[in-house]
Amino acid sequence: MKKRIYLSPPHMSGGEKKYIMEAFETNWIAPLGPNVDAFEKEIANYVGVNEAVALSSGTAAIHLALILLGVEKGDKVFCSSLTFVASANPILYQEAEPVFIDSEPDTWNMSPDALKRALQDAVIEGKLPKAVIVVNLYGQSAKMDEIVALCHEYGVPIIEDAAESLGANYKGQLSGTFGEFGVFSFNGNKIITTSGGGMLVTNNEVAAKKARFLATQARDQAQHYQHSIRGYNYRLSNILAGIGRGQLEVLEDRVNTRRAIFNRYYEELADIPGIHFMPELQRTRSNRWLTALTIDERVLGVSVQSVLQNMADENIEARPVWKPLHMQPLFEGSQYYPHHEGNIVSEKLFYTGICLPSGSNLTQSDQMRVIECIKNTLKLTVKTESNMF
Ligand SMILES: *Cc1c(COP(=O)(O)O)cnc(C)c1O
Repeated sequence: MKKRIYLSPPHMSGGEKKYIMEAFETNWIAPLGPNVDAFEKEIANYVGVNEAVALSSGTAAIHLALILLGVEKGDKVFCSSLTFVASANPILYQEAEPVFIDSEPDTWNMSPDALKRALQDAVIEGKLPKAVIVVNLYGQSAKMDEIVALCHEYGVPIIEDAAESLGANYKGQLSGTFGEFGVFSFNGNKIITTSGGGMLVTNNEVAAKKARFLATQARDQAQHYQHSIRGYNYRLSNILAGIGRGQLEVLEDRVNTRRAIFNRYYEELADIPGIHFMPELQRTRSNRWLTALTIDERVLGVSVQSVLQNMADENIEARPVWKPLHMQPLFEGSQYYPHHEGNIVSEKLFYTGICLPSGSNLTQSDQMRVIECIKNTLKLTVKTESNMF
């Protein structure tokens, strides 16, 4: 069996160990401590916000953002449909009602047209959403100008789910800073990782203080253990924050490497009719967390399924694009707004999309194995020459 090629494995720099050792030497083996404080400051400085709160996961960060925006039972929350379930699970934790918004083709992210119709209907119903969760898929920012303008017009706060897009930017502004709250994840597969962890970012200092309070069991100011409201155990360990500090130091390098990996896939495969890469919106810079492309079976005569199967046979981990949440059994019966009537973009992407191994530690020869596997599947073993132009 050939060596396994993973989709997006962790990539340590070595610099993490210094911070972990410090935690051991000073016995800060706790969900608070100097690495947590420093990691929060470093992330806040990096993205350019007042406050960052280190948490046990990105999911926890979304959950706290919803609580801080007052989302309660029966409230509506709009959410991108084409995303990982973690974007929407916290809506269920609050017993609120998700309304899913389709993608548009330019960024594969939330369609401003669909969002607009959903907001107009919400006004007619007399029940605006308490929040809009906008996801930046695979490191590409959504159409933030349009989305921010719409949410502003209707007075609905944004939670930017930037779990996949740390280090990306939109017209010069870093991902995660467009909403009331931004969310990052440091899960093992993300562009930088603490094995597991997350960060809630905001310019609202009062909200950040409340997030820290809620994340530590909502313990009131008192000598004894006193609690007035429901709390959570959501803080990040001081050891894991140490890993995060080491990882943040190499973030720019990781973005550049993932972009170079994308470029190599693009050079090798983009000329093949029927293959289309996930676009990068003008004046935005994706972190290219995962290289994603679509396969047009009618043109290529090869299905997504067979490409994925051949990859699996070669011990290469590739995945379909996220299954839209409005198609998930978990969310059956939820409201859903397509990009345009009769044009459901996220479903098309799901049926035709593939994510390729994109780890920043992917070697060039391993990447060539992936590329050869795709070309073999497409029976294009002969190298495509530039005379295709
Ligand atoms: C990874 C991810 C999350 C959740 O982050 P965790 O740290 O795993 O809880 C949320 N949203 C998206 C889009 C993600 O990819």
